[in-house]
Formats: sequence, structure tokens, C-alpha cells
Amino acid sequence: MLKKALVCGAGGFIGSHLVKRLKRDGYWVRGADLKYPEFSETAADDFRILDLRELPNCEKALALGPGERFDEVYQLAADMGGMGFIQTAECEIMRNSALININMIHASAKNAVGRYFFSSSACVYRDMAPDELELTEEDAYPSQPDNEYGWEKLYAERIAMAYGRRSNIPIRIARFQNCYGPEGTWLGGREKAPAALCRKVAEASDGGTIEVWGDGTAMRAYTFIDDILDGITMLIHSNLENGVNIGRQEYVSVDELVRTVAEVAGKNIHIQHISGPVGVKARNFTNERIKSLDWKSKISLKEGLSRTYPWIKSQVDKSRSSRT
Ligand code: NAD
Repeated sequence: MLKKALVCGAGGFIGSHLVKRLKRDGYWVRGADLKYPEFSETAADDFRILDLRELPNCEKALALGPGERFDEVYQLAADMGGMGFIQTAECEIMRNSALININMIHASAKNAVGRYFFSSSACVYRDMAPDELELTEEDAYPSQPDNEYGWEKLYAERIAMAYGRRSNIPIRIARFQNCYGPEGTWLGGREKAPAALCRKVAEASDGGTIEVWGDGTAMRAYTFIDDILDGITMLIHSNLENGVNIGRQEYVSVDELVRTVAEVAGKNIHIQHISGPVGVKARNFTNERIKSLDWKSKISLKEGLSRTYPWIKSQVDKSRSSRT
């Protein structure tokens, strides 16, 4: 009998790729989201359009035939976006994502699902100085996240673990660092830095100038979608409890990120720094826990961008030609 997986947030970037991976791995998959994936057909066997802030809708997402239950639930649905969105939609994030997380774990416990995965974030950690030693997962406490998105993730981690303890459901929690790749949001205000910068470079002419928020020195690591999917599927089947960092340890400044995109695009690009939401100054996390499962990031930033930039450029070209 095929294993059954429910992917919440299956219309989104990571969720839609995760559905493809689970199908490749031989699962029967149901997706649930407010919307279908934007850029390609869903690979799910069954897809339900549901607002998962509502408990009855979480029940509908989990409903199967008599005596059946999901072996695995992947909870990736969230009111989510890049730093511009995180800093302007605090109430939506705190309310919508919390409601989804409260109701989904409650319904999953009631339905005695086999395992439960929650997508948390490196935003649960405090800001760091650029040369600070690596933070471990335990360093999320005492807590001082930089934004409300991080506080909501911490709460959601805790409520999932509380239900897991009571209902004896293995809860597995990944704390992702910035994830990027093809078929992610690239326009509209919710896009994250790698997609926004790929779009700006694609729109610019060779020798042109793009605007970049902040002074370009903020340090970040960016993880290609395939590495994140490896991490999710290894983690859910592991015995690792509590939050687990998943991110490539290749830290670059925002300006270095722009230079790598420009190199991949084969363009000479100048940067104009403008004021805008940037977030924390630096990140530096240990990956020892996920590496204990033999996880290893396989895709360098340059390689990941060479797979992502052409897709974003094709979207830019398509939207230009539809306007003319
Ligand atoms: P995404 O925005 O592409 O996907 C989230 C999906 O959730 C969207 O399709 C959205 O429609 C859906 N959703 C929102 N509200 C909903 C509701 N009320 N009911 C049902 N569905 C709803 O984001 P993503 O990049 O794929 O991120 C997936 C998860 O990973 C999120 O929980 C996010 O916080 C987390 N995460 C992502 C990153 C990253 O870099 N992408 C980093 C850290 C953590």
C-alpha cells in the first residue's frame, strides 16, 4: 500500500516542489492550499482548495476513507513573503499563520497522523554580529527574534511539540535559511531577495544599474530548493526532535549575491543602495544536527543561481511580451 502524505501549502514554492519529490518517492499525495501552484500543474493525486485557518477545513484536508489516516503531514502553509512583506504585514503573519498552525496540529493529533513536519525558519534566532561564532539550535533561547514572523514560528514550533508529546506523534521541525529556486514568487511584493535580485538583473540592460535595499553588507546564506527537499525528507524520517537548522553554509553579502547573479546573467551591473527593509545584519548557524543524518548541501550558490536565473528571466520576458 502506498504511503499517504498531506502537503499543506502545496500551492506555494517549497510545497509544490515537495509534492513532486514525494510523488517521485512513490507516495500518494494530497495537496491543500488557498491556491493551485502558479507556475506549473500540481503533481498531487488530489488537491483541495482550503483556507487552513479554519479548523473544519483542516479536518477536510485530513479526511480519508474509514480507518485510514495520513502517514505524514507536511505543514508549510503560511502567510509568507520576503523582508518587505515581513515588516509590513505583521498582524497578518501573527494571525493567519498562527491560526493555520494551531488548527492543523490540533486536527492532525485528533486524526492520529503518523508523523508531522513543520517548516520553521532561521528567523527564530536573534540578530548576529558579522564575525560571531555559529549559533546552535539551542541558541534560539533565550529568544530575541528580529521580527514577528520569527516569534510566530517559535510559538508554532512549541504548539506542535506540545501536541506531539500529548498524542505521541513524532514532530519534526526544520528551521530553513533562505530557500530559492525556479517556480518561486519573483514579483508582487512577496518575493525574497534572490528572486527579486534575479528579476532586477533580468530587467536591467548590460552596464545598467539596479537598486538594492540597505548598504549591501548584510550577510546571508541561500539554499537551493533541492537541498531543502533532501533535508525535509531526511528529517521527517529521523529521530531528531526539536528545531533543526537546514541551510547551506556559504555566507555572502547582499552585494556579493548581486555580483553572482550578474555573473550568471553575463551582465555588467552597477548597484545603487537605497533605503529599504533589510532584516538582521548577519547569520551564522551550525548544521551539525542535520549533517548527522548524512545531509549535505550539494548545490553551490552559483550553480543554484544558474538554474534559477534563466527561469526568472523567462518570466520577465513573458510578462514583457504580454504587455506589448
Ligand atoms: P509560499 O508563500 O510560496 O508558500 C506558502 C503557501 O501557503 C502559499 O501557497 C499560500 O497560498 C499558502 N497559504 C497561506 N495562507 C493559507 C491559508 N490560510 N490556507 C491554506 N494555505 C495558505 O512560501 P514558501 O517559500 O514555499 O515557504 C513554505 C514554508 O517554509 C513557510 O512556512 C515558510 O514560512 C517556511 N520558510 C520558507 C523560507 C524560504 O526561504 N522560502 C525560509 C524559512 C522558512
